[in-house]
Amino acid sequence: MVSMTSARDVPQPVPLGTWPTPLEPLPRLARAIGLGPDDLWIKRDDLTGLGGGGNKIRKLEWLCGQAVAAGATHLVTTGAPQSNHARLTAAAGARLGLEVVLVLAGTRQASAGGNLALDGLLGATVVWAGDVGGDALAATAREVTERLRADGAVPELVPFGGSSVLGARGYAVCGRELLAQAPDLTTAVVALGSGGTMAGLVDALGPDRVLGVHCGAVPDPSGTVSAFASGLAGDDVPAEALRVRLDQVGAGYGALTDPVLAALKLTARTEGIVLDPVYTGRAMAGLIAAVQDGDITPGDRTVFLHTGGLPGLFGHPAALAAAEAGLAVGAVAR
Ligand SMILES: *Cc1c(COP(=O)(O)O)cnc(C)c1O
Repeated sequence: MVSMTSARDVPQPVPLGTWPTPLEPLPRLARAIGLGPDDLWIKRDDLTGLGGGGNKIRKLEWLCGQAVAAGATHLVTTGAPQSNHARLTAAAGARLGLEVVLVLAGTRQASAGGNLALDGLLGATVVWAGDVGGDALAATAREVTERLRADGAVPELVPFGGSSVLGARGYAVCGRELLAQAPDLTTAVVALGSGGTMAGLVDALGPDRVLGVHCGAVPDPSGTVSAFASGLAGDDVPAEALRVRLDQVGAGYGALTDPVLAALKLTARTEGIVLDPVYTGRAMAGLIAAVQDGDITPGDRTVFLHTGGLPGLFGHPAALAAAEAGLAVGAVAR
């Protein structure tokens, strides 16, 4: 099938991040989870630079390219109170001289610290939408956009999580960058939130080499990734062809689970790498489960995509308390 969009219609990305991100070995973690010391590597997309870093920067390069080409004055986007995407949209707006309005689910009283503190530091305006689902959140964002337009501004609505066919292009670029670093990779493991990251990787690596770990952010994770991947390919990428684990959601998006806490501790204590409780902790717990059930096997090269999210740890009271409880106090404490 021929794509209806010619290359000329695709806006050019604006540079926001620091590329390429490093690929590093994880030999001690590999041994601890039953892999060979050279089997497990980490792609450091937590080190993308701007605004504290994270995967949304790659998508925002394309989405902001479109906004700048349209002469935008404002970026408007949606998310959870501890949205990393919202924080990085605020950073991108600051870098580009655009005003940023964040339409967040929930209420001011219920949230504090972490990403929200950085949103404030970066100068974003927050509109609290109340405890609503995704559709109502999107509707509030559209209202905000219409109000700005009526006031003479040129708002650009950035999709939830930065995920659209355009935003996912950033992860097709990442997939090609990763292939150049690890041509023999068998499986790339990634957190699946709004879906654009996995979709872009699938476009570059094919569905067999990408394992997504659902984090509870969308109702139909495989269908969501399939839609973006199909849009990128200009051809159907069926949901059934995708490798998606659904076993790490637990009690829901914001809830900390025992396997996630164990993954956070093990990764920190074997490699000095800090993961977050919502996305990368779930992805690592899913990777460990995949080794246990034989979906990932020793001798194959597995790459864990670190998508960032560290500020979210500081906005997650349960994870912070559990982390501090692991502190060994005094020289002989056991
Ligand atoms: C948003 C996010 C993800 C998920 O990426 P999607 O493209 O939304 O699926 C993973 N990790 C972190 C830290 C994120 O902020």
